[in-house]
Amino acid sequence: MTKTLADTLAARECLYVNCGHAMCCKSIKLDIHALIDRLGPDHGSMHWDLVGLFGCSDCKAAGRDHRPVFFTCIPDYEGQQRKRNREWEPTFDGE
Ligand SMILES: [Zn+2]
Repeated sequence: MTKTLADTLAARECLYVNCGHAMCCKSIKLDIHALIDRLGPDHGSMHWDLVGLFGCSDCKAAGRDHRPVFFTCIPDYEGQQRKRNREWEPTFDGE
C-alpha cells in the first residue's frame, strides 16, 4: 500500500525531516502544502519516496560526510482524542 502526500494531509499528520548525522541531528517540520505544490498530491509520502529529495545544508556546509535524512510521522493525536471522546462525559459528584 502506498501513501501519498494527499493522504498525509487528509490524516492531518505532521511529517518531520531529520538529519541522520549524530553530530548534527537537525530536524524540521515539513510543509505538506508546499510539497504538494512542488510534487503533486499523488507523490508518495513514504520514506523511500522522499529520502532522495532532502539533504542537510548544515552538514554540507561543515563538510561532514553525507548521511541520509530520515522522517518522523506524528499522527494527529488531538483529532484522534476528540473522536474517541466525542460521546463521553465524566461523572461529577462534587457539590
Ligand atoms: Zn546535518
